Amino acid sequence: MTAATRLAHLMFLGLVFATTAQAEEIAEGVIASGTPFETRWRVYDSEVAGPTVLVIGGVHGNEPSGHRAARQIATWPVNRGRLVVLPAANPPALAARTRRIPGMDGDAGDLNRHFEVIHDEVRPTGSAAPAIWRFVESISPDVILDLHEGYGFRAAGSKSVGTSVITHREVDDPGQQLMLRAANQGIEDPRRRFVELDGMVAGSLARAAAVALGTEAHILETTWKDQPLSRRCRQHRRMVAARLVALGMCGDSEPLVDMIVDPEDARPRIALFDGAGAGNASQGRRFEAQLPGCRVERLGSEDIRAGCLQAFDAVIFPGGSGSGQAEALGVPGRDKVREFVDEGGGYIGVCAGSYLALDNYTWGLRLVPMDSHDRKHWRRGNAILTIELTEEGRETFLKSESVREIAFRQGPLMRPSEDPENDATVDVLAWFRTGVGRNGADPATMIDTPAIVRVGFGAGRVLLFSPHPELTDDMEDWLRLAFDWAAEIKPVPQAAPSR
Ligand SMILES: [Zn+2]
Repeated sequence: MTAATRLAHLMFLGLVFATTAQAEEIAEGVIASGTPFETRWRVYDSEVAGPTVLVIGGVHGNEPSGHRAARQIATWPVNRGRLVVLPAANPPALAARTRRIPGMDGDAGDLNRHFEVIHDEVRPTGSAAPAIWRFVESISPDVILDLHEGYGFRAAGSKSVGTSVITHREVDDPGQQLMLRAANQGIEDPRRRFVELDGMVAGSLARAAAVALGTEAHILETTWKDQPLSRRCRQHRRMVAARLVALGMCGDSEPLVDMIVDPEDARPRIALFDGAGAGNASQGRRFEAQLPGCRVERLGSEDIRAGCLQAFDAVIFPGGSGSGQAEALGVPGRDKVREFVDEGGGYIGVCAGSYLALDNYTWGLRLVPMDSHDRKHWRRGNAILTIELTEEGRETFLKSESVREIAFRQGPLMRPSEDPENDATVDVLAWFRTGVGRNGADPATMIDTPAIVRVGFGAGRVLLFSPHPELTDDMEDWLRLAFDWAAEIKPVPQAAPSR
């Protein structure tokens, strides 16, 4: 089939509902339309004869890397063959963050048990599998890569299939071996290395495609335990990119592995650091929930060192440990962050992320001409404190009341830098008017010190919160407003009058 007839065929099936400006290359559509399982797919067709690779994510709703990585991979171009991506195979389970379809127990709720094969024919069961199977048949993929996660590390003796490549095969599979090599790049700890497995569970989508369609089928499993989402997504992207390169669909895997957002996506783009020194997954989810309408992606140290920030409008460094984040980034990562802001990017620091941006730590980013004051007593405790907003603060946070209560968790006490070279003008947006002092700290020390500041750095902008707006009731829009300022997002200008 040519690309045009293939597209016509998909349109005939009612699968295509939208195409972009490059109609002959990118097609998008939905399956299971009008049901709770309605979900989008995307095809990048190079229009050059070659294999079709189908990437699937989100079959299990509690395995976020598979879904996220597939969504990222959906932005990749290929120069030979077709790349088809279905990033959210099981929307109700993804929304509930459960393995099974909400409200259903055992295999009845497990979408990856619904593709039963009887005499080499697939008999999909349940509410979602029939539409997915019709889609797979219509695509007729040469290779299927189904992205999943496990709870443990297989190589460390876990019963979980986490951190493995499961392949349906009779003999050694070169595709499996090259994905293992790509995924294991840089993993020193033998207990955390990806291993090969070959028994694909009955009822799984990948096995059904292998048996009924003769598709080369792999299930790519990362491990959610003790690993940030950004790392798992990178592992998934590495494996998929390696397979595409070996199939001759793209020249080099690295630019793909580092491609996380669609250049055509018009939504504001925010990178949220989730590497060592950042908080846990629930912290990340809280930030995302407070940034509606934005494309928020978790980035780790490796992503930042590889230059992935360049595709974003702003980066958020959240609570946790400032020195821990600095150590994770290393000097090359810290240089990349400074370069990003210097060239026009936005930086938002919250608590630890604010320590990271200050001037008087050897590991600091030195983005803001402020020093961390009373460092000896940083463990001064958590409290709800009173802040008073300045005129600029009230403007930034949309005419907020000037006196507010805010959650404080041992964030920095800031005072102007002692470095005379560092004389950029800092706007204070809010002052602490009350203080907390445990572990030998004097609560009075922090009273009347800046709680929220902003400053320009090169062509970019930096806004630091010592306290936590995201943990405070009725401040749900403050992060978004801080981002709008940092990324210089202004109201949409009126179109020029036509002549
Ligand atoms: Zn799974």
